[in-house]
This record gives sequence, C-alpha cells and structure tokens, in this order.
Amino acid sequence: MLVLKNETLINRNDAVIDIEDRGYQFGDGVYEVIRYYDGEWFLLDDHLERLQYSLDEAEIDYNVQEEKLKARLHDLMEQNQVQDGGVYLQVTRGFAPRNHPYPEHQQPTLIAYPLNLKRPTHDQTHGIHTITAEDFRWLRCDIKSLNLLGNVMTKQKAIDTGASEAIFYRDESHVTEGSSTNVFIVKNGELITHPADHYILNGITRRHLLYLAERLDIPYRIEVFGLDALKNADEVFVSSTSAEIKPVISVDDQIISNGEPGPITNTLLKNYFDHLSVTKLPNHI
Ligand code: PMP
Repeated sequence: MLVLKNETLINRNDAVIDIEDRGYQFGDGVYEVIRYYDGEWFLLDDHLERLQYSLDEAEIDYNVQEEKLKARLHDLMEQNQVQDGGVYLQVTRGFAPRNHPYPEHQQPTLIAYPLNLKRPTHDQTHGIHTITAEDFRWLRCDIKSLNLLGNVMTKQKAIDTGASEAIFYRDESHVTEGSSTNVFIVKNGELITHPADHYILNGITRRHLLYLAERLDIPYRIEVFGLDALKNADEVFVSSTSAEIKPVISVDDQIISNGEPGPITNTLLKNYFDHLSVTKLPNHI
C-alpha cells in the first residue's frame, strides 16, 4: 500500500514515524476520516475545513493547503486503485525531544492512507443495540483529537455487554454523543440533536443530515436532551462518516421504536446521497 507522508507518496513499510513523534507520545495531533464512494469524495471540503479548525484550536502550526492536499489525496486513491472506501488522515505536532511544552519550531507530520470501509448495510437494516455511559472525557470534544482513550474504553464497554455503541451523558439531563458517533432522537416527528459546542464533535455527517432534513422538510431542533428523552424517543439513530446512519433499536435494556428502524431514520437513510453534488455544506448548519 502507498501512503502519503507529508508531501510524498511512499510505501507503507517506508513510512517511518519517529519514536518521539508527539502524536505517538502525547496524542498531540488531530485527524479526519473521509469517505470515498464510487471514485468520488464525499463532503471532502467540509472535512478539510474541520481539519483546519482542529489544527487551529490545538495550536498546531499547520496550514491545510486545500488544493495541493486534494491533489495528493486524489493520487493516493488512484495509485492504490481504490474505488470505494475512505481515507484516514492525521497531522501531529511532529517530533521533538520528549517534553510537554510545544517545541519551539513545530514540524508537523501528516500521514494519510486508504481505509477499507464498507457500507454498514446489515446494521442499517436491522438497527443496533447501545448502552449509556458517563461522559468522562475532557471538555474540548469539538477538537477531533488523537486522544481517544475515553472513547475507546467506552466503546469496549459497549462491545463487552453485547452492544455496538455507547451513548455518553454528562449527567441525567445531558446526553452528548456516541463513543464514535453523533446521536439523534425523533419525538413527535421532530429530530433533536445536541448543539455543536465543546461537548461534542460537530460531525460532518450530523451537519449533512441536518441539511438533508431541511431539504426533506423534516423539522429539527438543536437542543440538549436527557436520558429520559433518549429512552422514550420514538426513534433514535447515530451518525458518522463510516456508520452513515445506524438506527438504534435499544438503549440499555429499553427497546426503541418496537425494535425496528423508524420511518424518519429510514427516510434519511434512503435519501443519504441526495445532494452528493453539493461540495460544501451551507454555513448555517
Ligand atoms: N463524535 C465522535 C466522538 C466521533 O468520533 C465521530 C466520528 N469520528 C463523530 C462524532 C462523527 O463525526 P463525522 O460525522 O464527522 O464522522
């Protein structure tokens, strides 16, 4: 496999990372996962814009030069003969002798390589089981940081109990997001999802779905909801770049929507590729 390291495509085995790369030692970096369907990028501009946001918020001195990076990502997919899948892309603050403060001269390291992502049609047809878990992560979940220890520990807790996603809450009245997804509920025909603040990652898929809801005349509210609302919702679903939309059919031991994907969830799923021609989501979402 060829991978992109900084500005060059090289063989995976030649892509050496220094043992003192700050991404490796401190999780000092940010990342993106971007989908590629049938030879086309999906919402690429929005992902690159969020990458720059994460870099700026983390004060990593790296300027995403969109056109150059796009050309390199294009080569990466073409040379690896990828038709469907995605890309994993991360930028760390680079390597320096181990020490907490930022190095004086940052030399960020970019790595990107193709991911073998498949559409999760089984989960989309049948729905998934979830658990709830206390959100013990930090308070800058809006940065798509490499520090995923809280997320991976909580995802594993879900797997260990036979579920496939964990839904975080800060307290009983404040559900935030999934361990690797955003969470939506449907009540009386209306979509509700958490505001894009520091408690969640503002998912590109979340934004895509809100835009889709606007176009399909599905009303939505951006509002904090609690565990009661979650468990008594008419429908629940989670969203992410790789999950797209996955209907939730149980939360802890509570069955949601009679244990089947609900009608609004299915409508969004059916129209998921409706505005593929839109290269950039509108700013108001
Ligand atoms: N929240 C968290 C914690 C995530 O890890 C992800 C996926 N990376 C999301 C939300 C969804 O983001 P996106 O739709 O941009 O993939």
